[in-house]
Amino acid sequence: MSILNILQERSGSKCELCASEKDLSIYKLPPMPVGTVDDSILACATCIDQIENPDNVDVNHWRCLNDSMWSEVAAVQVVAWRMLTRLRAEGWPQDLLDMLYLDDENLKWAKATGEGLEEEQKVIHRDVNGVILQAGDSVVLIKDLKVKGSSLVAKQGTAVRRISLDPENEKFIEGKVGPTQIVIITDYVKKM
Ligand SMILES: [Zn+2]
Repeated sequence: MSILNILQERSGSKCELCASEKDLSIYKLPPMPVGTVDDSILACATCIDQIENPDNVDVNHWRCLNDSMWSEVAAVQVVAWRMLTRLRAEGWPQDLLDMLYLDDENLKWAKATGEGLEEEQKVIHRDVNGVILQAGDSVVLIKDLKVKGSSLVAKQGTAVRRISLDPENEKFIEGKVGPTQIVIITDYVKKM
């Protein structure tokens, strides 16, 4: 069965957010959708448009979350959390958010796009292609890098596994090249 079929069955062929039966398609949750059933939802064009384009948001449309946030599907809970967080200044979304319980893992997932953080607090690390990097990812160097304070040169093509992120600076990540822990600028890496 295809992912679409499974999602249609799961949702009863309705938008899993607002229950619309029109213009449904698969919405893969960012930041790094694998596109499995578990990180996808079936959603209508209106919902997807507003999720992806905060400027198009019609706050009242999202009163649908009053019902759909109680879904047992983690991906639906995560989208509900993100949208309620985005709209919380309206008041009622904050009330719903206060009732929405996500377990630790799903809360981490919900927060992974930086939703709810003030712009200036939002430190998102991206590789040379703009792909979001997360702690624990593996990257490959796209050029030779001199390692500060040593004679080591980390060669282009070197894999750096299990990186960590500088929480304050979106341009810096850390990882091990051989036995040496080095700081790397995100412009010089590509996610593996
Ligand atoms: Zn919808």
